[in-house]
Amino acid sequence: MKFETRTLHTGFEIDKQTGASSVPIFQASTFHQEDWDGHQEFDYARSGNPTRQALEKIIAELEGARYGYAFASGMAAISGVLLTLPTGSHVVACEDIYGGTFRALTRVFSRLGIETTFVDASRIEQMEAAIRPDTKLLMLETPSNPTLKIIDLKKAADLAKQKGIVTVVDNTFMSPYLQRPHELGIDVVVHSGTKFLGGHSDVVAGLVTVNDPALAKEIYLIQNGFGGILGPQDCWLLMRGIKTLAVRMKESQQSATEIACYLAKHPRIRQVYYPGLEDHPDREIHFQQAKGPGAVLSFDLGNAEKVKTFVEHVQLPLFAVSLGAVESILSYPVRMSHASMPPQERKKRGISDGLLRLSVGLEDVNDLLKDIEQALEKI
Ligand SMILES: *Cc1c(COP(=O)(O)O)cnc(C)c1O
Repeated sequence: MKFETRTLHTGFEIDKQTGASSVPIFQASTFHQEDWDGHQEFDYARSGNPTRQALEKIIAELEGARYGYAFASGMAAISGVLLTLPTGSHVVACEDIYGGTFRALTRVFSRLGIETTFVDASRIEQMEAAIRPDTKLLMLETPSNPTLKIIDLKKAADLAKQKGIVTVVDNTFMSPYLQRPHELGIDVVVHSGTKFLGGHSDVVAGLVTVNDPALAKEIYLIQNGFGGILGPQDCWLLMRGIKTLAVRMKESQQSATEIACYLAKHPRIRQVYYPGLEDHPDREIHFQQAKGPGAVLSFDLGNAEKVKTFVEHVQLPLFAVSLGAVESILSYPVRMSHASMPPQERKKRGISDGLLRLSVGLEDVNDLLKDIEQALEKI
């Protein structure tokens, strides 16, 4: 069955006990033990909850993985994966990684003796050169945030396999509708479910999927042992969001493509970053591993003053942190997602003071274009 159908016919679309049209929210922290020996599936809700289990099975199925885990946030999911590393491990990460992941690696995991080398992972030779005998994990994100660089996932997976390194891909920007890294040989996929999977700016959540049973066991040990689980209400919201993932993504992507093309021709725009544009340097690699360019693009207005004027005049998008929602969201990476990154590190990654990121929602595209046009006229 096609992805669109699979998001709806997941095996959880009808509650087996009651015939209800959605998975019940099991708002329970503990489960009565019928038999003395306690051989039952659920005992305590940190260890497992039926609503969470349904979500975990759905995300595993959609990513093409055997195991899924739901965490309290994208950062809890990413940290959960990193916590499987022994002290003293070395990590190689792509340099324009999500700001929160950069902060976790450089300020939290560094305390556990986990050292990270950041590289331009769109250049496979740079990734290879950074690998050391103690390298245990490759942390990747493609398209990257916010400059939409592309990493060749198959090449990265092959390289890591040769060297016995675990590969992790943050698939938040694409969602499993557009990109399924496990199919390219990637070991671990992580998501901020807060973004496209939830899709409505009303829930914070994180997900992890894996195929290897030993790795799955380690991740479950962290989920249960560390306790950063997703609550049943939020699991339900995420399942509801996933049902419309494909139609939302399709529509938003179509509009994002139109907006990117419009901006690319506009004289007041310095540069547009979007893998859907003909002149994106790694467009070909992107389309080998993903079904479409996605709904997020970035554009450079030149300086902070112009950004301020633009943001003050634009009407429709939320001016906010986050992405992947029904409403368009305009973010200013320098002050938002990448505020926790030192200025010189931002500069190295091309995250300039003039850069804005736009996550395109479900508004009529002509309304969005008109709005952008009138705001650009003011700068
Ligand atoms: C938002 C985001 C995260 C962090 O997720 P939270 O749910 O906010 O903790 C991680 N990676 C990417 C790419 C994101 O956009």
